[in-house]
Amino acid sequence: MNIKQWIQKSTIKLSNIHSAQLDSKLLIMYVLKINKEYIIFHEKKKLTCKEIKHLKKLLIRRYLLEPIAYITKKKEFWSLNFHISKYTLIPRPDTEILVEKAIFLLGNKKATILDLGTGCGNIAISIASMNNNYFVTGVDINKNAILMAKYNSKKLHINNTTFFISNWFSNIKKKFHMIVSNPPYINKKEFKNRNKELSFEPKIALYSPNMGLGYINIIINNAKKYLHSKGWIIIEHGFQQKNQVKQILKKKGFLHVQSYKDYGGNYRITIGNKPYI
Ligand code: GLN
Repeated sequence: MNIKQWIQKSTIKLSNIHSAQLDSKLLIMYVLKINKEYIIFHEKKKLTCKEIKHLKKLLIRRYLLEPIAYITKKKEFWSLNFHISKYTLIPRPDTEILVEKAIFLLGNKKATILDLGTGCGNIAISIASMNNNYFVTGVDINKNAILMAKYNSKKLHINNTTFFISNWFSNIKKKFHMIVSNPPYINKKEFKNRNKELSFEPKIALYSPNMGLGYINIIINNAKKYLHSKGWIIIEHGFQQKNQVKQILKKKGFLHVQSYKDYGGNYRITIGNKPYI
């Protein structure tokens, strides 16, 4: 069997998945360690028995709806390649609006940024990659997430970051110019209604008590203590949580509270500014 034949065959096998052909290509790229161009120019290349066996194993995992990112252990975000593991959420394109807004608000000034619940470090590293004037601290409750974030930072040659374990603010000892976070925000009660692919992701990174607002509340209620005057907070949230998040920020005295849509057209982030005191 050659590359082209395998892609055709597995695309049919994965007909339960809308991205069947793309996923088949991604699997073969992963196993043969090749890129898209290679597939185009070498589609007649014969596969070895060992390769076919390996591919078959991975195809079954995908057939059972394990996300392709967990199978290939990587995901692109902000045009950077991140390594991921089952201990970290798969970075979503929806989150890029958070990075965009952070950079816009920070400008070219020297600034320290805190990323709460950093996971594989995609937000922290993407912000840090944009300007050497930024220094980004990423924290997470999970040791494996911290190891992954450190690994990604090193692999991408981003030096203006640091990562350590912290349960939200528990190990934070100083103030920052900006706090960002993509916390768990899915209502725990919705757990059963969500699609099968989500069930492969760490529940601790997805679900939150109190209608999905429990952790967002904790973050906002403590944020002022860890922000310099005029410092910004940017929170990612569910598209139906915009009004509640705005209200929580306003109640805590944040100014310039505003929500923004992601590129899917859903309200995804809300920002607030700590007053000058
Ligand atoms: N945006 C993710 C989803 O709805 C959830 C991420 C999160 O809870 N932080 O699938």
